[in-house]
Amino acid sequence: MNGEARFCLQCATALSLQVQDEDGGPKERLRCTACGWTHWNNPTPVLAAIIECSDRGGQVLLARNAAWTHRMFALITGFMEAGESPEDGIRREVAEETALQVSALSLVGVYDFQRMNQVIIVYHALASGDVRLSPELAEYKLFAPQDLRCWRAGTGYGLADWLRSRGHEPQFIELPPRN
Ligand SMILES: [Zn+2]
Repeated sequence: MNGEARFCLQCATALSLQVQDEDGGPKERLRCTACGWTHWNNPTPVLAAIIECSDRGGQVLLARNAAWTHRMFALITGFMEAGESPEDGIRREVAEETALQVSALSLVGVYDFQRMNQVIIVYHALASGDVRLSPELAEYKLFAPQDLRCWRAGTGYGLADWLRSRGHEPQFIELPPRN
């Protein structure tokens, strides 16, 4: 179970695993026995950007999250806000996290990230400006596309697909074990 829900959002009764017939057949989910509310636990959409710096010779910006204990550089990511399109959301995230301005966006692909119960929507973002990282990010690095290394998880597969589209065969690294 990835979901954190323990109580019904409608009536606050403790949820329990109950089998019910759904369109796809019998299915066990966390449900409320008092009012019938179901915790669907649908994956959350997450936006990610491969930032190509048009004013830095086409280098790609990867950043390290301040909360990570290992020295891993990754794509800029963030959750969509209510009331915005995915394109508006990734422009906002890039601006908030790096202060760069996006001049062009294209969709790279959509990837599952089941460990976090997320769907990752990966964009290529052409961007420029002075980099100012948000406090969430500890440092950034610029990479020539052919020097990028991919990782075997949602955003890493997106990076690999983008590299292939640019004629670079992606090289994968193994992530350090999770603690
Ligand atoms: Zn309830």
